[in-house]
Formats: sequence, structure tokens, C-alpha cells
Amino acid sequence: MNGKPCRRRSYGKGYFIHKALDGYAECEITFKKIPYTVRLTQKEKDQIHTSCSCNAETHFPLCLHKTAVLLKLREVYGPNAFEMMKDWTAEKAQLLAEYGFSLDDDLKGKFDLSSIPIPGRWN
Ligand SMILES: [Zn+2]
Repeated sequence: MNGKPCRRRSYGKGYFIHKALDGYAECEITFKKIPYTVRLTQKEKDQIHTSCSCNAETHFPLCLHKTAVLLKLREVYGPNAFEMMKDWTAEKAQLLAEYGFSLDDDLKGKFDLSSIPIPGRWN
């Protein structure tokens, strides 16, 4: 495992996923030039706790920012987004080893491991 700190990654204009690992996602969305931080935590399989820095009081459980971030996470990670938010380093290392490579090798142009995005780990 490499201990590199997660760095901010952009997933389309106005979206940044700061962290998405082990059932927790912290994202930033910019709407009308104002950045909002949205945090999502999966407590149980079908239960996600949400918070947004806008602190909007609406008649609905989700503000615009939370809704946009949930849709973006589904776009990036797929319909089982929270299950996909795990450290795939061991699985990737195993796949690479079958071809005589390791995660420390320069893999540009050889393999595309970006289909499973891990913030701060893959370009
Ligand atoms: Zn909000």
C-alpha cells in the first residue's frame, strides 16, 4: 500500500471529490461561483447520512448540492458507488503482477486502470 495522501481531483466542471473511501465521501461543488462541501456517510446498506455546508432548510431531505453530488458519484462510481469506494490497490497490484508489472512501474500507455477511480491514486 502506498501512503500517499489523497489529493483533490476534478470530475467535471465545478465538482471535486476530496475523499471517497470506506463508505465516506467528501466532495466540493461550486454553484453560482460559491463552493459547497458535501459529506456523505453510508451507515447501513440503504442508508446514507448527508450534510452540506449551505445548511439550507428545505422541505426536502436533500438540497440541490447534495443531489448534484449524489448524481456525480453515481456517474463516476456507478450505481453501487459506495461499494466501489474502497482501496483497490491490492486487486490492481495482483492484476499487474500477472503481466510482470507493479504499481511502482510507469504504466502510461500500457494499462488503463482508471475505470475504477480512486481519488489521489490514479490519473
Ligand atoms: Zn447544500
